[in-house]
Parts: sequence; C-alpha cells; structure tokens
Amino acid sequence: MPRLSGIPASPGVAIGKVFPVDRRRARVPRFHIKPEDTGREEARLDLAIKQSVDQLEAIHQSLGEGEQGAILVAHKMMAMDPTLHAGAAGLIRDELLNAEWAVRRIFREISDKLHGGHAHGEQASEGTAHIAERASDFDEVCDRIVHNLAGETPTLLAGQPPEGSVLVAYDLPTADAAVLLSSGRIAGLVTDVGSKTSHTAILARALEVPCVVATGTASELARAGDLIAIDGHTGEVLLSPTLEEVLRFEAAAHRARSRGAALLEAKDLPARTTDGRSVQLCANIEFPEEVPSVLAHGGEGIGLYRTEFLYLNREELPTEEEHFRAYSAILSAMGQRPVTIRTLDLGGDKLPIGHRSHETNPALGLRAIRLTLRHPQLFRTQLRALWRASTHGNLRILLPMIAAVSEVREAKALIHTVRDELVREGVAVAPEVPIGIMMETPAAALTADRLARECDFFSIGTNDLMQYTLAIDRGNRDVAYLYKPLHLGVLRLIKACVEGAGAAGIEVAMCGEMAGDPAYTLVLLGLGLDTLSMNPADLPRVKRVLRDASLRDARALVEAAMSFSSTDETEKFVREEMAKRYPDLE
Ligand code: PEP
Ligand code: MG
Repeated sequence: MPRLSGIPASPGVAIGKVFPVDRRRARVPRFHIKPEDTGREEARLDLAIKQSVDQLEAIHQSLGEGEQGAILVAHKMMAMDPTLHAGAAGLIRDELLNAEWAVRRIFREISDKLHGGHAHGEQASEGTAHIAERASDFDEVCDRIVHNLAGETPTLLAGQPPEGSVLVAYDLPTADAAVLLSSGRIAGLVTDVGSKTSHTAILARALEVPCVVATGTASELARAGDLIAIDGHTGEVLLSPTLEEVLRFEAAAHRARSRGAALLEAKDLPARTTDGRSVQLCANIEFPEEVPSVLAHGGEGIGLYRTEFLYLNREELPTEEEHFRAYSAILSAMGQRPVTIRTLDLGGDKLPIGHRSHETNPALGLRAIRLTLRHPQLFRTQLRALWRASTHGNLRILLPMIAAVSEVREAKALIHTVRDELVREGVAVAPEVPIGIMMETPAAALTADRLARECDFFSIGTNDLMQYTLAIDRGNRDVAYLYKPLHLGVLRLIKACVEGAGAAGIEVAMCGEMAGDPAYTLVLLGLGLDTLSMNPADLPRVKRVLRDASLRDARALVEAAMSFSSTDETEKFVREEMAKRYPDLE
C-alpha cells in the first residue's frame, strides 16, 4: 500500500484505525416550490435550525469552557441569528425557493456583504482576517443547517471516533478540529492540505496530537477502519502498513518516549554549555491553557504568545476584559518568569483553514503591525489590557513584522499614550515594560543596528524571515522544499540581527521554528543568540544539545558552515558534524 509523505506538523507516532472525516460541502438541491407549500417549507427550516442549535449546544456542553468552547458558542449564535432566519423565510415566501436553497442564498449574501464591505473600506475597524474568518465560520454553520434539512448527519455526529482513531481528512474545519482533538480519543491526524502554521496544525501541537499535513491524497486512499501509521516527526504516513512496518513505528515511538522521559530529567537544570555560556530557553504558546505544558517541559519563560488566537473562530472581537483575563492568567501562572506577549499578528498566512482574503498578496499586505497601526482602536483595546495585566508578572511586549523604524516609533508612542490614560484613570500599571520587535523582514535585519536603538529586545521570526528572504509562500506545499534555514542568505541576516543587537547592548532571541530544531542548535549558539523560544515539547532536546556543547566549538562550526557556497554543502556539513557530536540525536 502507498506510503505518503507530508509535512510533519505535530511530533509523535500514531498507529490506529482510519476514521475518515468527510466534510465535503453539503449538496444543495435547488428548486421552486408551489405557493401552497411555503408553510411546510418554513416548518422544515425552523426544525433544521433548531436541530443545528441543539447539536452545537450539545457539543459545547461536552467541551466545557476555554478556547475550543468559544468556537461553538460563536457557531450557535450564528445559527440562532434572527436576521438569517427571517431572510431565509422571506426567500421561501417571496421567491418560492426550497429551504436548502434559501439557506445557502442568505448565508452567501451575508458572506459576500462581509467581503464586499471590507473591500470598500466599510467595517474596516474589524480587520481583514476577522472578517474572512467569520465568512469561513458562516460556511460551516450553513453546511450544518443544510445537512439537517437533508436529513444527513453533519460531520461531528457521524458516529464517535473509537478510542485511538487516526483522523484522515481533506481538510479539518476549525470547529471540528477543536472538538475532535480535545476529546482525548484521537491518536493522530492526517490531512491532504494545510501547512505547519495552519490553525489545525497549531491546535494539534497545542493538544499534543501527532499530526501530518499536506499529504496530497491521504483522504482519497485511506478507507475507514484500515490500519494507518503516522510519524509526526518525519511526516511519514503508511496506509495498511505491514507487521514489520508497524513494529518499526512502534519501536520509534518507544524510543522517542524513553528518550523524552530521560531528557525531561534535565528539565530544571540550566541550559548552560560546558564552557559556561547560558542560553535562555523559552516556549511559544497559542493558548493560555498551554502554560502547564511549558512548565512541565522546563520552559524558563514564554518567548512568544501569539495573541491573534484570541481573535479567531468567533463572532465578536475579543473585549478588553477577555484580553486582560488571558494575559493576567498567563502572567500569574508564570510567576516572575518573563512572558513575551506579541501584539496582534493577523493577516497574511495567519488565517485559519478556509479563510479567504480580499488582498491579492496577503503576505505582503495589511498584516500584523500594519493592521494595528491602521486601526488604532483595535490596538488600544489590546494595549489597555496589556498594561492592566502588567502588574501580574514579568511582561514584555513584542511588535510583529516590523520593517521600518517609523513603525516602532509610532507603536511605542501609542503604547505610552495608553499607559498615561490608564494612570489618569487611576489604574495600577507597571512603571515600564520592555518593548521588543520581531525581526522577520530582510529590511529589519539589514537595518538591525538602527532598529536596536529603538527597542529593548529583538526576536527573530525565521518562519517569516525565510518566507520574505527566500521568496517562498510559507503555506504553499509546492515550494515547502525550498525552506532552508541554513541558506547563507538566512544565516547572514540572523548574524546581522545578532550584531545589531550586540552593538546596542540589547537581547536577541529567536522564536521561529528554526529555534526548536536541535539540528540547528549549535549553529544558533555559535551565531550568538541569547534566547531560543520553541514549542514546549521541543525544549528538552534543545537543552540536551546545549548542555553538551561548547561555545568555542559552536563558533568554529558556524564559521565553517558559512564558508560554503551552496546550501546543500552547508546542510551536509552541519548534519555530519552534528552526527559526530550527537550520534543518538534524531
Ligand atoms: C515567525 O515568523 O517566525 C514567527 C515566529 O511568527 P509566526 O510564525 O507567528 O508568523
Ligand atoms: Mg511571523
């Protein structure tokens, strides 16, 4: 049977039975009804909406509160929206459309209005991604109602996946991903499309479910109940594996587990090299619920909290209070450890599956700091909450996607204005908070010496830095093979960031995926990074490399690595050198 290879999106091995999640769009029959049938059609509509609301309520009850529950509340509110109901009923009465058609039409009209309104500058304060995300949620809710009208079972109710199932889907909608993955019954997840930074992949990592995305055809080839083995570390997917293959995967899983347990024994020891250089090891999080995992893996702080996750999968923008609750909970739980909270980075690829953007080139569009500076109201809400939470722990504010000094100055001015306002209101705030910037554009790296004078720390975002330097769309699986962290162009830009920070005496961190891959730890040590921030589960392996390393050796290694002309040569060299020093490192 075929073996597929996808993008490893959440580590771990899973062997289990295939549970297909088929969420093709619901088929919508379209026909005109007789005038005397309008009453019956409206009754069908009422019943389908009621069923949808009841289903969403039941799922919500089973989930409890938290990030995942919020998605369901938003969907329920959409299904209950009286304007939707009135609109669909009006189409049944006035245009004699059958109920399925009427529902699809009214949802489409609302979705188009959201896009159109934004494209013409209306509702601009809500932000591109929020609007597009709402449109994708509308599609999901619409499908649910149409499924119920047709007497079909919407995805989530097509039977409970048996304990230990491996979900296989073309794509997994956000609501389904949240519900299914948090049930604790799912051993693994495979999708045909997606990228490491898709919302589903990030959710899988947060919930520690092994996951491989972008396999191309898994959902077409895998049959319900067949055995499947996936390796979320290598991206390997085996359909109907042989006994030998199962044993190989099981052995790999066993090795990974015992290695993990052994590595965790060092979780409270310092990440210090044999010649005394300390590197701070922090964690990246997307949800406040991940803090216990950070501490369990020995994280010394939060190097990146991606706050845009507060905005996704919901009907309304998060309130200042909701921001405050999330920030203060994380700060309190982390005690005096540093907590770096990044301001909203919506736009570009930072959109959940199913998202559509009106921009021709969203990665180069109104995203991150550009979006927040364009919509100061959006920014102020977040900044007020950040300052209010600043007394609850050791807060640092991080600004995403900086390309120019003027952006830093403008953002800092607003940050201080908001602080002054709160002080006038009599609200307790910290005397000051370090403000750092993400180094993820080549322009920022090349002007690092100037930017360093404007802020308190750098955090290098290699995911975007590579996207913009190597000109590869980070969500496009066809060009994923070009992602080469050891490309000389990337290494030189990282070096420029470190030197710029060094000249101004500020800290330089890295929070892109490169920081969490132990294959690059010596390179990053040698380049002079002060802090590395990664997925919590990656912390023990990176610490292991550091504790056995020497700074002198790492510097020599980087110098040699940067002497090659082709990336293939550099990669081969680093791989071989790492294998010599760490023969058991995978
Ligand atoms: C990055 O770009 O490397 C980064 C850490 O930010 P994000 O992945 O959230 O864009
Ligand atoms: Mg980024």
